[in-house]
Amino acid sequence: MRIGIPTEIKSDEFRVGLVPGSVRELVAHGHEVIVQAGAGAGIFADDATYAKAGARIAATAEEVFRDADMIVKVKEPQSVEWKRLRPDQILFTYLHLAPDPQQAIGLMQSGVSAIAYETVTDAKGGLPLLAPMSEVAGRLSIEAAAIALRRPAGGRGVLLGGVPGVKPAKVVVLGGGVVGTHAARMAAGLGASVSVIDKSLPRLRQLDELFEGRVVTLDATMETIESEILSADVVIGAVLVAGASAPKLVKREMLKDMKTGAVLVDVSIDQGGCFETSHPTTHAHPTFEVDGIIHYCVANMPGAVPVTSAQALNNATLPFVIKLADKGLAAFDRDPNLAAGLNVKAGRIMHPAVAASLGFDS
Ligand code: NAD
Repeated sequence: MRIGIPTEIKSDEFRVGLVPGSVRELVAHGHEVIVQAGAGAGIFADDATYAKAGARIAATAEEVFRDADMIVKVKEPQSVEWKRLRPDQILFTYLHLAPDPQQAIGLMQSGVSAIAYETVTDAKGGLPLLAPMSEVAGRLSIEAAAIALRRPAGGRGVLLGGVPGVKPAKVVVLGGGVVGTHAARMAAGLGASVSVIDKSLPRLRQLDELFEGRVVTLDATMETIESEILSADVVIGAVLVAGASAPKLVKREMLKDMKTGAVLVDVSIDQGGCFETSHPTTHAHPTFEVDGIIHYCVANMPGAVPVTSAQALNNATLPFVIKLADKGLAAFDRDPNLAAGLNVKAGRIMHPAVAASLGFDS
C-alpha cells in the first residue's frame, strides 16, 4: 500500500503522523511511504532522514493526497484537506468528530473511510491510542504546575519537593486514571506530598498497590474534595466521564478559601474542564488568574513536547498502521478493536456513539 504523511497544518501542531523509525518498519513490510517535504520539521527529523528510512519525499500536500491509498496524520483534517480525500482512501488520525459536525459533513462528502485513533479499543475496553497522550499530559501537568507555582509567574512561591527542614508542596490529583497516575508519579518522584481522589474504589486499590504508600488515595466525596482543595498548593484536574463533559468538581466560590497563588492545572479542559473557572488556553499564553488562583488550561498539552509525543503516539499506532497497510479495510474482519475506530465510511457515520452525539443516522 502507498501511505501518505502530509505536514500537519493545524496551528501549534508540531507532531507528525509517522516518525522515521515507523517509516522504516512499513518499508520493510513492503509498503511505499510518501512524506511531504518538511513534515518532520517539528520533531527535527529532516527530509534526508525520512529518505534514509525509505520514504519518497513529495514536494506538496496535494501530491501526498493524490498518490496515497492511506493518509496517516495526527490532528483532524482541516477544511482544505477534506476536499483532497477520496472514496478509495483510508484516513487514520485523531478525529474527535462528536463536537465537530462541520468536519463530519466534510468527511462524509469526501467518501473516505476515516478511522479515529480515539475510538480504537483494546481487549479490556481501554482506548490504547488515547493513552499515550494522557501519559504525556499527566507527566507534563506537574512540570507546568512547578513553573506556574514560581513567584515571578504569579504562583505561591513553593518548591514542589521542599528542601530538608521545609515542607514539600501538597499536590491533589482529581481523577486517578491515566493522566492522574502519571501526574501522581511525577509529583511523588519530585518529593511532593500527593493525594489522588477518584470515585472508583477498585481504581484507588490499584493506585494504593502501585504507589506502595507514597501517595494517599481518597474517595471522591464532596467533603473530601473540598478539604483537600483548601490545603493544596497544586490541584491537577484529570477526571473523565467517557462521552460526557467533565464534572465541575471545583466551584468558583471555593477559590477564595484556597491558598493564594495555588495552581490549578485543568488537563480535562478538552472535555470542558473540571474547574468552574477554567477556559482553554494556548502554549503561548498558558495561564490566567481568578481570585488569586493560577489556572493552566492548555487543551493540547502534548503539542509542547512533540518529539516525545510523536514517538509515544507511533509506539501505539504503528501496529494498527501496519495491519491496515497489509490488509486494507479487510483488517477489520479479524480485529473488532480496530473496527471500533471506523467513524466514517462511504458518506455515513459508522460509530453509533459518534452518530448519536452528532444527531446523525449511523
Ligand atoms: P481515564 O479514563 O484514564 O481516567 C479518568 C478517571 O476519572 C477515572 O479513574 C475515573 O474513575 C475518574 N473520575 C470520573 N469522574 C470522577 C469524579 N466525579 N470524581 C473523581 N474521579 C472521577 O482518563 P484519562 O486518560 O486520564 O484522561 C483524563 C482527561 O484528560 C480526559 O478529559 C482527557 O481527554 C484529558 N486529556 C487532556 C489532554 C490535554 O492536552 N489537555 C491530553 C490528554 C488527555
